[in-house]
Amino acid sequence: MTATLIDGKAFAALIREKVATHVARIKEAQGVTPGLAVVLVGDDPASEVYVRSKGKQTVEAGMNSFEHKLPVDTTQEALLELIETLNADQSVHGILVQLPLPAHLDESLVINAIDPAKDVDGFHISNVGLLATGQKSMVPCTPLGCVMMLRDQLGDLSGKDAVVIGRSNIVGKPMAQLLLRESCTVTIAHSRTKDLPEVVKRADIVVAAVGRANFVQGDWIKPGATVIDVGINRIPASECGEGKTRLVGDVDFAAAKEVAGAITPVPGGVGPMTIACLLANTLTACCRAHGLAEPDGLT
Ligand code: NAP
Repeated sequence: MTATLIDGKAFAALIREKVATHVARIKEAQGVTPGLAVVLVGDDPASEVYVRSKGKQTVEAGMNSFEHKLPVDTTQEALLELIETLNADQSVHGILVQLPLPAHLDESLVINAIDPAKDVDGFHISNVGLLATGQKSMVPCTPLGCVMMLRDQLGDLSGKDAVVIGRSNIVGKPMAQLLLRESCTVTIAHSRTKDLPEVVKRADIVVAAVGRANFVQGDWIKPGATVIDVGINRIPASECGEGKTRLVGDVDFAAAKEVAGAITPVPGGVGPMTIACLLANTLTACCRAHGLAEPDGLT
């Protein structure tokens, strides 16, 4: 059996189109333009690439993009002051602080200083609590993208056995909450889980967020299961030349695609959905701030 490929790149383009259409509509009807502020501290090259890409896609969706680049030695007080200013700025509906922050800054203090209504990353403790208690919240972008792809692929997820491998605050735990919200029966596996292959074999849905290249083996997958690979791992690619590298996921894709019913590739699966969901969250935050109807299917 060869699995259906879940094309995250194409799906993300559809989400961006849906966001752009809705943005155009509220601009026209209400004169409101959603705005996203992205704060980058320091000059980490990977973070700079992400921030540039976020800014570009925000503008392409018809929204305002506000970029704040701060020097690496920015003090905690200066960063908190900027967040206060953005919290009070009515043209800013979403605030994202690019992580990781330099070591002298307290990440959780900074994140929890963001107005929860503008916390488009969904990392604020209030949003974590709202999601856990089944209330309306801002939902972390990567798991949101995963659940959108699952709904698109499988329709109703209710009653399905789902295994999430990984219990991080940014992927594993919110992913499990979202699957629970969809009425799946959810198992969260982690580094202390006993007999992980057997646990994974029970699952109709496997979400891998481990951070270890090709970790999930093909023979762990139940035939026909849907596999969402969140992992992004860079490994040597000697076949492409000396010193070259390539990206792989947490799942042994070549083996898993022969068993699974559907699977996301890496790259081109979960990755592109993350920024698309950031745009969706910014639009959602804007609609909530102005008491406007939220677009369907983006939360
Ligand atoms: P993380 O914070 O390092 O968490 C990894 C999780 O995997 C931990 O809960 C850990 O368990 C678990 N784990 C480690 N070794 C294991 C093992 N042998 N068996 C079972 N579980 C094991 O990573 P993360 O931030 O969640 O990210 C996970 C992956 O997703 C990374 O590759 C990251 O680059 C990628 N990612 C992608 C996107 C995207 O947009 N596509 C976004 C975010 C992250 P313990 O808790 O017991 O240590």
